[in-house]
Amino acid sequence: MIIDGKAIAAAIREEAKAKAESLKARGIIPSLSVILVGDDPASQIYVRNKGRACDSAGIVSNIIRMPADTSQRALMEQITALNGDATVSGILVQLPLPAHLDEAMALELIDPRKDVDGLHPMNAGYMALGMPGIVSCTPKGCIELLKRSGIKIAGANAVVVGRSNIVGKPMAMLLLKEHATMTICHSRTADLGQITRQADILVVAAGRQALITEGMVKPGAAVLDVGTNRGQDGKLRGDVDFEGVSRVAGWITPVPRGVGPMTIAMLLMNTLEAAGSQGV
Ligand code: NDP
Repeated sequence: MIIDGKAIAAAIREEAKAKAESLKARGIIPSLSVILVGDDPASQIYVRNKGRACDSAGIVSNIIRMPADTSQRALMEQITALNGDATVSGILVQLPLPAHLDEAMALELIDPRKDVDGLHPMNAGYMALGMPGIVSCTPKGCIELLKRSGIKIAGANAVVVGRSNIVGKPMAMLLLKEHATMTICHSRTADLGQITRQADILVVAAGRQALITEGMVKPGAAVLDVGTNRGQDGKLRGDVDFEGVSRVAGWITPVPRGVGPMTIAMLLMNTLEAAGSQGV
């Protein structure tokens, strides 16, 4: 079964619209400020899409464009100003930042209550402890895809390929919270296929096109492909060999129209939750 992330995300975006309406009825105007430093073409597209998604959900969006040679100090001042602005419910710093800027320092400065990407160490810590906090968008979207597709997580053997702070680690934490038995793989994993073949749920976030092939997947498994790799033909491809793996998997997400649309849908939900909890 192909998991249609675009359709599921569209349903969530409708739910977001209703949620935004009910916040407004309480006098709360949800708003998202996105800081974009430099002119990376992919980031420009991501930020534009986030702005449009906010508009269609009834969330005020404000894109702050800063030049590629922005200093760390100027970036920190911008974040500080947004932290102190009572009309701003969510702040997102579009990654990656230009190489001369310290990403960790910038993310740590964001008010954790406004950290709608869920990347502040405090929110990452809350998640690790199983406490309420803002959960990063892509892993949260993957859990939604599993749940809304009726895939049982509790008791499943789940394998995550990738251990980044943005996807792999929070993904593993969330699956653990949902009572899966977790294994995390990375570039030094000795025999990747031997481990992925044990997975009832396999989430792949390595950024390596066609890393996962048919023989590496357990028959009937649910396979979520987070990877986005731009081929030489300009087309977007995942980390999973879709054609081969779809012959054995029980469920599979395509790329595009899989995990990607869920990331934006979850960003809307996080912004609305941040607005509701702050009352702005
Ligand atoms: P990173 O490059 O930060 O992390 C990649 C991870 O994959 C690392 O932990 C790395 O291991 C591991 N890895 C790399 N090669 C292999 C290999 N051959 N075998 C096993 N593990 C490997 O990437 P991100 O986590 O930020 O993103 C991963 C992918 O997901 C990218 O394609 C990215 O574009 C995409 N993405 C998609 C999103 C969406 O909305 N669809 C959102 C965010 C990301 P090690 O730690 O040892 O280096």
